[in-house]
Amino acid sequence: MKTILWFRRDLRVEDNILLSFKADLLPIFIFDEHIVSKLPRDDRRLSFIYEVVCKLKADLQAKGLDLAIFYGKPTEIISSILEKISIDKIVACGDYDAYAKQRDIEVSRLVEFEYLHGTYIFKPDEILKDDGLPYKVFTPFYKKSKTLFSPSHLAKSEFETKSHLIPFEYNTISLESFGFINKAHGVEDIDTLLDKFALHVSDYQAKRDIIDTNYTSSLSVHLRFGTLGIKQLLRWLVERKKEGIDTEPFFRQLVFREFYASLLYHFPYVAQRNFNYSFNGIEDEEKFALFCEAKTGVPIVDAGVLELLQTGKMHNRVRMIVASFFTKDLLLPWQWGEQFFSLHLLDYDAASNILSWQWSAGTGVDPQPYFRVFNPYLQSKKFDKDTFYIKKWLPQLLHVKAKDLHNEEFLLRANLQNYPKPSVVHKEAAKKAINAFRLTCKDIYVAK
Ligand SMILES: Cc1cc2nc3c(=O)[nH]c(=O)nc-3n(C[C@H](O)[C@H](O)[C@H](O)COP(=O)(O)OP(=O)(O)OC[C@H]3O[C@@H](n4cnc5c(N)ncnc54)[C@H](O)[C@@H]3O)c2cc1C
Repeated sequence: MKTILWFRRDLRVEDNILLSFKADLLPIFIFDEHIVSKLPRDDRRLSFIYEVVCKLKADLQAKGLDLAIFYGKPTEIISSILEKISIDKIVACGDYDAYAKQRDIEVSRLVEFEYLHGTYIFKPDEILKDDGLPYKVFTPFYKKSKTLFSPSHLAKSEFETKSHLIPFEYNTISLESFGFINKAHGVEDIDTLLDKFALHVSDYQAKRDIIDTNYTSSLSVHLRFGTLGIKQLLRWLVERKKEGIDTEPFFRQLVFREFYASLLYHFPYVAQRNFNYSFNGIEDEEKFALFCEAKTGVPIVDAGVLELLQTGKMHNRVRMIVASFFTKDLLLPWQWGEQFFSLHLLDYDAASNILSWQWSAGTGVDPQPYFRVFNPYLQSKKFDKDTFYIKKWLPQLLHVKAKDLHNEEFLLRANLQNYPKPSVVHKEAAKKAINAFRLTCKDIYVAK
């Protein structure tokens, strides 16, 4: 059977279910014009993807296969392949956000399309309530996932050696040929990250929220693009468990990724619209510009935005503080923040980003209650006590005492050089946000 293997979120040879498929194979990767054309010319995420796609090609060649690399619209590219050679089917791993699903439906009109399951631990409809409906709350989802977890979820996909490569022009393309330039992406390799994380995994629960030193795995980019398979990571975790380490807290976070993927799969409209409440922030271009330029005058928020702009990374706790400030203190629509993150995050993943923003805004499927508003000063005091993180990204504040940078009143009073006063007073802004949400709750109550 002549089969196109379409690599998307699974850019590796090792333990890849796609490569356990026995057939005559034409492996392809497409830089999708629809996604790529929106990115800046020096997008570091694209440089990362380009690098790993080239490595994938070399690794496939070493196994007697190859990879044809394209830029353009998937339907047009696949049509043009079908015009050149006869193909029986396309095989790809599931990609479940709304755009990806629609794209795959269109491709499936051209040729038989088979989805394999390799992107997540569980299939998107595997963890369901007893009545067959999707979970909307994380804890029961997590509990159910533990009861359904079995050795099959750890099984390694073996490379099928009996497959053959279909003769084809296995070209490659340069980043420049579709308008991009190479930029240092700063993503560390998987072995380095796992070796580092092995030192911290036993402390994960206690230290994962500390901002100034990284106690988390930093594996999200590799999980996003499948340079590390989720089952590979789970087997690594099992080894740590055998050493007597409590791996449960880390596993729980991996299940969050599953939960968000399942929510976006079952409720695709949450990509644009609130799940709860009709209140959706107030559009204000000026406030948004202050935020994007890291000039809100709230040190932990501005430090987070600068880290994101300069590296494409941001610690989970900082993401939570920043998103809360954006949606509650600045009262901006969560969709604007989600879009901003999507442009800059190296690990951008539609499901995790959208659902996390809706969680922060209090509008999501299993959200933070709208009346619980993070105080960014208390957050920085707790998680960046000595302000090492703040001062790393805002060196103009090096001379200011840590306790003053956690003190809103001081910042409102002080005339700091090269740093603005806070653009909002937290207490007042939080009150305004809570009132706005409360009114919407009332609307919903009256409507019922
Ligand atoms: C506003 C906001 C936006 C976010 N956007 C993204 C995004 O676009 N892509 C993304 O991968 N994560 C996103 N997250 C979740 C989380 O911040 C990152 O997964 C985490 O910071 C990645 O760092 P790590 O690999 O060191 O995580 P670790 O703590 O080492 O966790 C291991 C893995 O578990 C998963 N994970 C951990 N926490 C979460 C979580 N809260 N939600 C979903 N998955 C999780 C990730 O795949 C992560 O790599 C977002 C969180 C917030 C609050």
